[in-house]
Amino acid sequence: MNIVTESDPFIVQANYFKALAHPIRLQILAILRQGEACVCHLEAILQRRQAYISQQLMVLKEAGLLAERKEGLFVFYSLTDPRLGTILDSSLPDVPLPAAPMNGCACPTCVRDE
Ligand SMILES: [Zn+2]
Repeated sequence: MNIVTESDPFIVQANYFKALAHPIRLQILAILRQGEACVCHLEAILQRRQAYISQQLMVLKEAGLLAERKEGLFVFYSLTDPRLGTILDSSLPDVPLPAAPMNGCACPTCVRDE
């Protein structure tokens, strides 16, 4: 039995970086840095199945990176800590910002923008 517990700050930090270490999850975070988004919005941008995106959102949520807010039928995800942006900026080459979905998204944000 390992004596190190989950309250060990280095384990917490390692879990944080493990959650970050995935290309799709980094894309999701890049999108959420621009503002909150629902699963259907992420689905339309990333062109991945909803089940897959939900799975990645769960990993990010369990690592404490995401907050969620329910509005009617939609659940909006956002970043819990704006300092994450600084970490991403310092560890990445400049990445293109993912484009907003042209169509295929019926979330309140997209419908409002039409
Ligand atoms: Zn949308």
